Amino acid sequence: MSSPNSDTAAKPTPAASSPPAACSKVPGVCRVCVQPLGTLPPAHIELVREAIESTYGVETHVLTATPLPAHAWYAPRKRHRADVILDFLADRKPSDCDKVVALTTKDISVTKGEHKDWGILGLGSLDRGVCVVSSFRVRRKLADTPPEERHARVAIHELGHAMGLGHCPNADCFMRDAGGTVETLDDEHQLCGRCRRELDWHGDPPPRRD
Ligand SMILES: [Zn+2]
Ligand SMILES: [Zn+2]
Repeated sequence: MSSPNSDTAAKPTPAASSPPAACSKVPGVCRVCVQPLGTLPPAHIELVREAIESTYGVETHVLTATPLPAHAWYAPRKRHRADVILDFLADRKPSDCDKVVALTTKDISVTKGEHKDWGILGLGSLDRGVCVVSSFRVRRKLADTPPEERHARVAIHELGHAMGLGHCPNADCFMRDAGGTVETLDDEHQLCGRCRRELDWHGDPPPRRD
């Protein structure tokens, strides 16, 4: 009789010469940790966690919530600076987390061109394996796509940056440059073949999110 664990137990031991079994669809990334910054609804965290797990085929782990770092507060615009949050995340990144995706409901910002403080949906570091995603702006201009689903798509996008991906020209790809607007998120349904090749993807493509 099979037990719930029989899949694991039945796996043959790889020969010494074979490469180690891949732990996800993205080489080198096994475990992605989700870091709530402040309080978020559990169902909201769960949706983002599921989106990350089903898209990248990684194991996910939700870390204990921690407050936003006080020194990231930008009083003139009543926002938190996303670049400071990334420094904070990189400094405290647990050794057993290959990547960290931080979630907040508060507004976050960066300096962008002539704009000293520009509100954004999320920010990912290409070389430090951390990113932060805010749900503050996904609630604007209500359309058919629920705000939590938009937040999940931004999390997939920023985690893509944290895995080294740049922006993608394909209109329905999660790695399209949102340009700070919310509407484009509603057209993004997949991680396209171009982006998957860049990640050295193996295995089936991720399921579409419609
Ligand atoms: Zn981006
Ligand atoms: Zn793409």
